[in-house]
Amino acid sequence: MVGAAKRRINQERCLRDAGTPCENPRSFAHGIKQLSARIIDGKAISKQIRVDLAQRISAVRDGLERPPALAIVLVGDDPASHVYVRNKLKTAEDSGMSVTLQTLPGNATLDETLAVVDRFNSSPETDGILVQSPLPAAMGSNAAQRVFDTIDPGKDVDGFSPISAGHLSQKRTGFAPCTPAGIIEMLDRSGIAIEGARAVVIGRSDIVGKPMAMLLLHRNATVTVCHSRTKDLPGVAREADILVAAIGRAGLVTREFVKPGAVVIDVGMNRVSDADEARQLLASQPKRLELFERRGSVLVGDVHPNVAETASALTPVPGGVGPLTIAMLMANTVRAAEMRLSA
Ligand code: NAD
Repeated sequence: MVGAAKRRINQERCLRDAGTPCENPRSFAHGIKQLSARIIDGKAISKQIRVDLAQRISAVRDGLERPPALAIVLVGDDPASHVYVRNKLKTAEDSGMSVTLQTLPGNATLDETLAVVDRFNSSPETDGILVQSPLPAAMGSNAAQRVFDTIDPGKDVDGFSPISAGHLSQKRTGFAPCTPAGIIEMLDRSGIAIEGARAVVIGRSDIVGKPMAMLLLHRNATVTVCHSRTKDLPGVAREADILVAAIGRAGLVTREFVKPGAVVIDVGMNRVSDADEARQLLASQPKRLELFERRGSVLVGDVHPNVAETASALTPVPGGVGPLTIAMLMANTVRAAEMRLSA
C-alpha cells in the first residue's frame, strides 16, 4: 500500500483513536505510534533575520555616518543578567551595530540609574536603550516601572514603556516587546498560519503574555489568555492550534495540554538543579541529562519534552525563542535608527 491510500487509512485510524482530525501531515498515527514534532530551529531563524537586517544596517551607516547604536544599562551582579547582556553585546557587534554597555554597581540608586537613562535619551548617538531586568530588589518594587516610564519611547527598543504598550494595543507604529515579536516572526518564517487559528497564551505578564496575545490578535487569531487562576488549564490549552507557554514553571505543559497537531511555543527558561526533576524532564534527552550530571543544573522550558509526541511543531529550550528575542532587539534598534534617519 502506498502514498495517498496509506495516508487516508492512517488518518481514519487517527480519527478513531484520538477523536481529533489530524492536522499534522506527519501525525497520521495518533494512538498507534509515537509522533515526533518538527523542532523549530530558533538559532537558524534568528540568523536569517540578521542576514536580512544587514542591508538596512548598511543604509543607516551611509545615512547617519555611523551604524545603528544600542545602549545597554546593566545594574548589579545577577549572573543570568550578565550572560544575557553578553549575548546581546556579541550579537549586536557581530551584526555590525555599535553597542555601549553602561554598568552600575548593585548598590546604585534608582536616581543614578534614571540619570544614565536620561543621558542616553538625550544623546543623538544612541538609537535604542535597553535596561536589563531584573533591577536589584533594593531599588524598590516600582523601580522597573520608573525606568520604563523614563526611556524615550522613540528609543524604547525593548517595548516595555507604557507608551509602547499603548501603541501596541492600538496597533500603531511603535516597538513591540522582543520576545513576542520574535515568536510572530518565527511562526511566519516557519510557514505556520496565524489568521483564524485558535491561539492560547499561558501567562499574562507585561513583557511576554499580554503583548503576545495582542500581536496574535492583530494577526487575526482567536486568542485566549490563561494564568495562574485559570480553571481547567489543560482543557483550555487543548483548544489551541497555537499554544504559547510563558509561565516560568519547568515542564508544566505536558501532553495533556496539547491538541494533536498543535504548534507549541515554549518561552520558559527555568534553571533546574534538582536531580529527580531533571531526570523526569530529560528522560528522553540523554545528552542533556549528561550535561546536568556534569554541571549540576540545566536550562529547561515550560513545556515537557513528551509534548513532542503530540504537537506538530515545537520550539526547543535552549535554542528556540531565546535567539529570536535577541534578533528582534537588533531589528528594533535598526528601526529606531531608520526613524532617526527619516526624521
Ligand atoms: P512572569 O512571572 O512575569 O509571568 C508568569 C505568568 O505565568 C503569570 O502571568 C502567571 O499568572 C502565569 N502562571 C504562573 N504560574 C502558573 C500556573 N501554575 N498556571 C498557569 N499560569 C501560571 O514571567 P515572564 O516574565 O512572563 O516570563 C515567563 C517565562 O518566560 C520565564 O521562564 C522567563 O524566564 C521566560 N522568558 C524567556 C524569554 C526568552 O527570551 N526566551 C524572555 C522573557 C521571559
